[in-house]
Amino acid sequence: MKSAMWQLADMLFPSRCALCGMTDHAASDGGNAYCPECIEQLTPEPVNRCQRCAAEIGPFAKSDKGCTHCRNRTLRFNTVVCLGMYEGSLRKALLAAKWSFSAVRMRSLGALLASRRSAELNEKPFDRIVPIPQHWRQRIVRNFNPAWIIANELGSQLNVKCDVHLLKRALRTRPQKRVSVKQRFENQSGALAVAHPHAVQGERILIVDDVLTTGATCSEAAKVLKAAGAKSCTVAVLARVLDHSA
Ligand SMILES: [Zn+2]
Ligand SMILES: [Zn+2]
Repeated sequence: MKSAMWQLADMLFPSRCALCGMTDHAASDGGNAYCPECIEQLTPEPVNRCQRCAAEIGPFAKSDKGCTHCRNRTLRFNTVVCLGMYEGSLRKALLAAKWSFSAVRMRSLGALLASRRSAELNEKPFDRIVPIPQHWRQRIVRNFNPAWIIANELGSQLNVKCDVHLLKRALRTRPQKRVSVKQRFENQSGALAVAHPHAVQGERILIVDDVLTTGATCSEAAKVLKAAGAKSCTVAVLARVLDHSA
């Protein structure tokens, strides 16, 4: 829901770029919150990414068995699609979008993910789009769940049904930031449940979150979805965050 303050800002600055503040960006496509120049910075051309975790790797590095960032981890999803690494303009835009009063910026970033990575996202059609549910503590401090907004946007752009209530938080897990990488995976075990297991039988699922760090949460989601009979699980996130404590 839009706050009154944000509605007023939208009225006063209808075409203000949410990143650089430029007021004249009528050329921006589809009512995006960012100007064309910022969109270019937010969506750099895909470089060589790890097939498994989407981390940027050397131009000739092979990643069929993962990369230095994910090799020791059990990741249950098949692959990851993202706009880019969590740095520079994308990091700045994502942080601002996450803590914004309205979901306009997050929706714009979701639209960019759908349009700029459409080749990867349309390679294999998905049957269902499933966002990662928010932790109960996050629900208290945030205005919206970024994963829901991005998933809804991907759903409408890719014309795939978005099922926001399929995954449920099963346990009161601790927020991921406070624990080590090893603990993150243990912490997530049993944290998610599928609300209607019969629904995903034989389906190709697109799991959506705002960022992918260790991959523990998305891996747990893929684990429970595959246990319920899902055929494959691809992950779509805005950015890949490298955790250097691995
Ligand atoms: Zn701009
Ligand atoms: Zn990797």
